[in-house]
Amino acid sequence: MSREDFMRQAIDLSGERMRAGLGGPFGAVIVKDGKVIAEGSNQVTSTSDPTAHAEVVAIRAACKVLDSFSLEGCEIYTSCEPCPMCLSAIYWARLDRIFYANGREDAAAIGFDDDHIYQEIPKALELREIPTERLLAGEAWLVFAEWQEKTDKIMY
Ligand SMILES: [Zn+2]
Repeated sequence: MSREDFMRQAIDLSGERMRAGLGGPFGAVIVKDGKVIAEGSNQVTSTSDPTAHAEVVAIRAACKVLDSFSLEGCEIYTSCEPCPMCLSAIYWARLDRIFYANGREDAAAIGFDDDHIYQEIPKALELREIPTERLLAGEAWLVFAEWQEKTDKIMY
């Protein structure tokens, strides 16, 4: 299958799942060694989960299939440019490459303004829309220090 075939699968998924009432018009597939190993579609409204974006759903499914927290060696095809949350999840999962179809400006045009979050990220904390305050940093650091010393930890 070609890259376009994989993307078409993501796009088809986005339409089918949207029509089935599962959520917004977004689909994603994860490919390893030329084969689709997992798929995901937006399920925010049907599962009452604001993090159930197509990419996150696909990443969770792929990690289950591989029984691994790393998706190194995999590529993601998503029907829309990833939002900041999904982009972060893609980095955490260590996917090799991202292919997307609709752009973030297309998403904004139909009411999904991911670009707004992209604009918040580089702002200083005190300038962000959601107030953010630091509390008990010293106490929290103690757990970090313990992690540093932990001898049987699994790094990821
Ligand atoms: Zn997302």
